[in-house]
Amino acid sequence: MVHPVYADLPTTIFEVMSGLARDTGAINLGQGFPDEPGPLGVREKAAWEAVHGYNQYPPMRGLPELREAAARHYAKFQGLDLDGLGEVTVTSGATEALAAAFLSLISPGDEVVLFQPLYDAYLPMVRRCGGVPRLATLQPPHFRIDRAMLEAVFSPRTKLVVLNNPVNPAATLWADEDLALLAQFCVAHDAIAVCDEVWEQIALDGRVFRPLMGFPGMRERTVKIGSAGKMFAMTGWKVGFLCAAPRLMKALAGAHQFLTFTTPPNLQAAVAWGLDNSAEWFERMPRDLQRSRDRLADGLAAAGFTVLPAAGTYFLNVDLAASGIDERDADFCLRAVREHGIAAIPISAFYETDAPTNLIRLCFAKRDDTLDAGVERLARARIP
Ligand code: PMP
Ligand code: GLN
Repeated sequence: MVHPVYADLPTTIFEVMSGLARDTGAINLGQGFPDEPGPLGVREKAAWEAVHGYNQYPPMRGLPELREAAARHYAKFQGLDLDGLGEVTVTSGATEALAAAFLSLISPGDEVVLFQPLYDAYLPMVRRCGGVPRLATLQPPHFRIDRAMLEAVFSPRTKLVVLNNPVNPAATLWADEDLALLAQFCVAHDAIAVCDEVWEQIALDGRVFRPLMGFPGMRERTVKIGSAGKMFAMTGWKVGFLCAAPRLMKALAGAHQFLTFTTPPNLQAAVAWGLDNSAEWFERMPRDLQRSRDRLADGLAAAGFTVLPAAGTYFLNVDLAASGIDERDADFCLRAVREHGIAAIPISAFYETDAPTNLIRLCFAKRDDTLDAGVERLARARIP
């Protein structure tokens, strides 16, 4: 009856855990969304545009001022030289951008290289497009690649490589030398890189995020994906970016036009304004998140948990086994939300094979009182 990819597809772990948190009134450190409402100026601009602005179809590729603002933003923060009008398309979130990329670039039988842990949207979409996944597995705590790993998954049939950086859920940033190695493989195999860089604005401890598109040979073969929802900490705002050379953009925009066609114009106008007027926000956000990460990490350590380093994203991971908890991640998470009022995400959900079962992911983009109460409840959940 239905397409086999969807016949037994489980509901995403984010929705499952948030649903359980809603039903039980639990503190939700599972799905990644901030407690705070996002920058006021950007929200006021969206409201003003909804009331006084233009609310009919915007141009299919997005408001010109937003495409140009995104190009300026990426020039300033990442040294990229994108032509806003020719090389940026606005999508309804990064999720739509990923779908448009897979639909327009994968033909049945094409091999697609992906790295575990995998963001949940990738595999079902790649398979629905007829792609054949070739999975490389990154191991905690460093989640690095090496040459042998790439040699095992690249082949003459490799069409696409999917990179997530900073990595959700590992909370790592890819090392420059790993990006350089991946770029070499992409060039040698004439492969296109789809780079899900939605967490680009959240590199902690003064780290500098580097886009794969900036590496030798990658400018013309990279599809860079961003998310205003992450840039402005308003995850419900589904405004995303597809950035690519015109040769690729024609196909990407072709897919986008029959997925959503356009994205609400008031949100687009607000994001355009925000990109040009948020120097302080982009400086403060990672600093505030770093402080929240430290508060959660210190609280967990004091409660006897072993915490993995977190260099980016909203997330940190706890090693249950190293914390003296002899329970699988998924079992721990179900027990914690049902019996102790605290939601977390089991990392095994991000692996198709060879899943570690000793890690859980926690979101630290929360107020201090939420984090403190979360630690208290997790401490109570320690004893099965
Ligand atoms: N990719 C990754 C790695 C993400 O973490 C997320 C959202 N959390 C997305 C894509 C989707 O972004 P959006 O909400 O803009 O669709
Ligand atoms: N990216 C968010 C997370 O990792 C969730 C997004 C979603 O629920 N689709 O928690």
